[in-house]
Amino acid sequence: DGNNLHGYPPVSLGFEDFYFRRVYLRAQDCVSRPIASAPHAWIDVVERYSDDRFKTLKRTTNTSKCLNLGSYNYLGFAASDEYCTPRVVESLKKFSPSTCSARVDGGTTILHVELEACVAKFVGKPAAIITGMGYVTNSAVLPVLIRKGGLVISDSLNHNSIVNGARGSGAVVRVFQHNTPSHLEEVLREQIAFGQPRTHRPWKKIIVVVEGIYSMEGELCKLPEIIQVCKKYTAYTYLDEAHSIGAVGKSGRGVCELLGVDTADIDIMMGTFSKSFGSCGGYIAASKEIIEYLKFSCPAHLYATAISPPAAQQIISSIRVILGEDGSSRGAQKLARIRENSNFFRSELEKMGFQVLGDIDSPVMSIMLYNPSKVPAFSRECLKRNVAVVIVAFPATPLLLSRARIWISASHTRKDLLKALEVISEVGDLVGVKYFHAEPKKQ
Ligand code: PMP
Repeated sequence: DGNNLHGYPPVSLGFEDFYFRRVYLRAQDCVSRPIASAPHAWIDVVERYSDDRFKTLKRTTNTSKCLNLGSYNYLGFAASDEYCTPRVVESLKKFSPSTCSARVDGGTTILHVELEACVAKFVGKPAAIITGMGYVTNSAVLPVLIRKGGLVISDSLNHNSIVNGARGSGAVVRVFQHNTPSHLEEVLREQIAFGQPRTHRPWKKIIVVVEGIYSMEGELCKLPEIIQVCKKYTAYTYLDEAHSIGAVGKSGRGVCELLGVDTADIDIMMGTFSKSFGSCGGYIAASKEIIEYLKFSCPAHLYATAISPPAAQQIISSIRVILGEDGSSRGAQKLARIRENSNFFRSELEKMGFQVLGDIDSPVMSIMLYNPSKVPAFSRECLKRNVAVVIVAFPATPLLLSRARIWISASHTRKDLLKALEVISEVGDLVGVKYFHAEPKKQ
């Protein structure tokens, strides 16, 4: 998952350049060679998702059914669902897999209109616009919202789609220390005092971009403090909820609901459908004026093929289940289960002696491996025991901050989680990545 650290050197070791380069090159060796030859999660071909918690990986030597801890399938909708699937099949028959047209060229079906209204209502904004891909939502919308003469201030761990969108906008981009409102304030104060480069004119517009849950760290955004700073310096707020919408909050409405933030305080709310909703695509929810403006000027709306109708139907149906509009309490149960599962798994990992990144309630967690040479072995040994985790190393992370990323799903059973914990503990001992004293087991 491409977090790009804004093009800065991936790690600052504080050594002389020569030494830095030597360390850097040697560690590069460790990262690239074993990964290329290891039976690694990213190289395997997924033959099928047997159901929402397993995936069958096809390798050259064997085929194995693995417990899936490496999918954004937070609520378990990325599988056959008694409410969603029949409706998706029906929409496939009625509208075909693709509209083969852009939205403005006859590619707008009744499902697209319904989806926009449904998303706006769900996230708590007056209007919404949908695109066919989450990545494109950030990378194509940011350049429409801000241009030359503007300033984007971006969290240092924002996703690559945000980085590309900000860079492509022509605005000046500044980065603030990850999830640190005091540093955001420092950057804002400095930039406002200085103004635009060379001319020192005031900035035409300032947008601060943050994520609801950071996908590499599992941390919740310090949203209330960030909003306070933005209000003080009259900056717009842009919140990417890819990993939080549907996954946290009492009714799945994301970090705003979880942290008690009024959505009126966020100017632009962005999110993706490829995680909690088991589909694909992205949205921007904002005021009617902003959405109208985007509908007339965003190239992803004007020139790209509309989101596939069955994908749109999947999103509408899953939101209905989340809100209980299917007439069952499955949505509420899923939300309670993902929270319970995440907090159980995180606390058990910590008790075992792992260093785990991320906050309580977050279904995203990273087990720190640190040393890049431990990465391939960790992944391989987990896979051997039929547990699939995603591992991340340089250049997606700083050089010495390699990690195994885990996404917990509402569809994992307690038995699944206990099995995963047993495997991860065994592999952790084998590879040597338990950095704390484990709590003694109660007799
Ligand atoms: N924003 C964030 C924070 C992400 O993590 C991702 C991808 N995981 C995206 C945007 C892009 O979304 P998609 O994969 O749905 O295109």
